[in-house]
Amino acid sequence: MLMEKQYTRSDVDVLLSAEQISKRTAELGGQISLDYADIEQPLIIVGILKGGYVFTADLARSIDISVEVDFLRVASYHGGTETTGEVTYILDLDRDIEGRDVLLVEDIVDTGTTMKSLLRHLGLRNPKSLKIASLLEKPEKNTAGIKVDYLGFAIENKFVVGYGLDVDEQLRELPFVGVMKNT
Ligand code: 5GP
Repeated sequence: MLMEKQYTRSDVDVLLSAEQISKRTAELGGQISLDYADIEQPLIIVGILKGGYVFTADLARSIDISVEVDFLRVASYHGGTETTGEVTYILDLDRDIEGRDVLLVEDIVDTGTTMKSLLRHLGLRNPKSLKIASLLEKPEKNTAGIKVDYLGFAIENKFVVGYGLDVDEQLRELPFVGVMKNT
């Protein structure tokens, strides 16, 4: 049997500390709470699995208006470090979003392919509004021209892990965002 390579914290250099992320998340949560203060029904937060699960949990907890949390699962990397350009839907929403304010929460917008597909996929269901929050963006790569409404940090074009982001399904649990040492 082929043994899977195992990664640990020591394979990673810290790029954004847990403190930096938590401070920025609180700022974004404050801004979102202000922007949606007058909506008539709870804001629907749609976390994008798997990578967005940590940011979704922390962002939702820093918002002080009524929210409902749901998840969508897509795959675009299929375990490698380069996007395939193909977005596969593995889990869809279990509610109707017609006429509702929806905020998509992603870990990272890289080429923008995933986000472009998600906007089309959900836009067809006629939400009242559809905006994007992403912890990270690689502006150098965003070829789909996606505009992130609530952005945590713009980063260089490097493969990052931690805070929900994986390498071969590992290191999602790191409380910070880091760069693999050998990349
Ligand atoms: P895009 O479709 O914008 O090219 O890629 C979006 C998805 O690719 C993200 O949701 C994330 O799952 C994955 N991705 C993009 N860049 C990175 C990265 O630097 N590290 C990791 N772990 N995943 C990434």
